[in-house]
Amino acid sequence: MENKTIHCLVIPFPAHGHINPMLQFSKLIQNEGVKVTLVTPLSYYKNLPKLPSSITVETISDGFDQSGLTLPKSFKHYLNQFWEVGSESLAYLINNLNGRSNNHVDCVIYDSFMPWCLDVAKRFGIIGAAFLTQNLAMNSIYYHVHMGKLKPPFAEQVISLPALPQLLHRDMPSFYFTYEQDPTFLDLVVAQFSNIEKADWILCNSFFELEKEVGDWTMKIWSNFRTIGPSIPNTFLDKKIKDDEDYGVSEFKSEESVEWLNNKAKRSVVYVSFGSLGALNEEQIEEVAQCLKDCGSYFLWVVKTSEETKLPKDFEKKSENGLVVAWCPQLKVLAHEAIGCFVTHCGWNSTLEALSLGVPVVAMPLWSDQGINAKLMVDVWKVGIRASVDEKEIVRKETLKSCISEIMESDKSKEIMNNVMQWKNLAARAVGEDGSSYKNMIEFVNSLFHHSTIN
Ligand code: UDP
Repeated sequence: MENKTIHCLVIPFPAHGHINPMLQFSKLIQNEGVKVTLVTPLSYYKNLPKLPSSITVETISDGFDQSGLTLPKSFKHYLNQFWEVGSESLAYLINNLNGRSNNHVDCVIYDSFMPWCLDVAKRFGIIGAAFLTQNLAMNSIYYHVHMGKLKPPFAEQVISLPALPQLLHRDMPSFYFTYEQDPTFLDLVVAQFSNIEKADWILCNSFFELEKEVGDWTMKIWSNFRTIGPSIPNTFLDKKIKDDEDYGVSEFKSEESVEWLNNKAKRSVVYVSFGSLGALNEEQIEEVAQCLKDCGSYFLWVVKTSEETKLPKDFEKKSENGLVVAWCPQLKVLAHEAIGCFVTHCGWNSTLEALSLGVPVVAMPLWSDQGINAKLMVDVWKVGIRASVDEKEIVRKETLKSCISEIMESDKSKEIMNNVMQWKNLAARAVGEDGSSYKNMIEFVNSLFHHSTIN
C-alpha cells in the first residue's frame, strides 16, 4: 500500500442506529491506514455524549445550530431545513479542510438517507461512497418503489419481488401504508436511490452469506455494490481491533445490567428491548409487563426514560425475577451466557447483533423496516418466532409468554439454537481475514489509495 494519506469524511444521518454502524466501519478503514473525519450536524453533536478518541469530528449545519432557540416543528420540517442548508455547509467544510495541510478530502462516505452529500462530493470531483444502513432485502423493496414498480397503496395480499421470499403486508415497510397520511418517511427512504448511479461505491451493512440471492440480484444492477457487515464492534466478531467493545457513542456507561446477569444461570434470562426509537403504547407495555411477571424466566427489560411513566404503577423495577433499566450495553448483554432469548423490535442493528452473538429471538416488529427483518429472521434464517398481534395490533401477554417458552424450553428451541449458532459463525467468518465483507472493505480501501496515486 502507498504511503500517501487518504482522508475520508464519514457522514451518518443523525440517529443512533445510523451513526453506530458507520462509526464502526470508520474504525475498520482507519485500521487500514485511512484518515477518517466524522461529520455530524452541530445540533446533534452538542448532545452526543462521547465519541471514540481516535475519531476526529467536524460539524455541519442542519439549520438548527442554536437548538434552544428554534426547534423543528416536525420531522418533515427538520429534513426540509437540513436538506436546504446541508449541501452548502458541507461544501464549505470541504473547502475549509482542503485549505488545511494534510486534510485534503479524498472521499465522502455518506449515509444513503442523504443523497445530496453525493452531489457535493461530485462538485469537488472526489469519490462518493453511499452507505446503506438497512439490509439488502429492504433496499430492494425501496428500489422497486423508486423505479415505479411498487406503488402505494397495494391491493395484492402477497407481494412477489425478484430474489425475495413472498411478502405479506405485515412484512412490508410500514411507511408504505402511512404514505397517504404522511409521505415524509417513504419519500426519504426512496430518495436514497435518486442519484445512486453516480456513486463510485455502494456499501451495505449486511453480509453476503446472509442475503446471497438478493445480493447476486443487486450486484447485477450495481457492479460497485459491496456488503461490508455486520458492522458491529470487533471484540464480538473476529477481534482484529483491540479492545473494541462498544460502538463508542453510548451515553450510559452503567454496568448494572451486566452485573445483575453475572449470577444468573446459563440461558435463564429473557432480554427485552425495543431499540432507541421504538415507542409502545400503554396497553402494549401492560401486556409485556404482565407476561414478564408470569413467564417463569428471569428478565432484563430496557424501558427508556421517556416510556417509564407507561409502566403499570405496581410493577417492580428490581425484583427477584427481573430488572428494568433505561439503557444497557446491549452487545455485552447479548454476549452474556445468561441470556437465553431476545424479545426485539427487530431494528436492523439489533437483528445483526442477535445473529452475530448467537441469541435466538422473539420478533415484535413495530414500524419501518422491522417487519421484513422479522420475516427474514423467522422464515428465512430461522432464528426465532414472531409474536402475532391481535386486531388492535397488540401482542397479548399469553401470546408473548408462549413464544418465550418456545424459545427457552421447547424441543424446537434446539433447532433454532443450532441455526443461530451457524449464523454467528458465518458472521464472524465474513469479517475475518479472507471473509467476504473483509475482502470487500480491503478492495474499497485499496481503490482509494489507487485513485490517489493516479490523480
Ligand atoms: N442499544 C443499546 N442499549 C439499549 C438499547 C439499544 O446499546 O439499551 C443499541 C443496540 O445495540 C443497537 C442500537 O442501540 O446498536 C439500536 O439500533 P436498532 O437498529 O436495533 O434500532 P433503532 O434504535 O434504530 O430502532
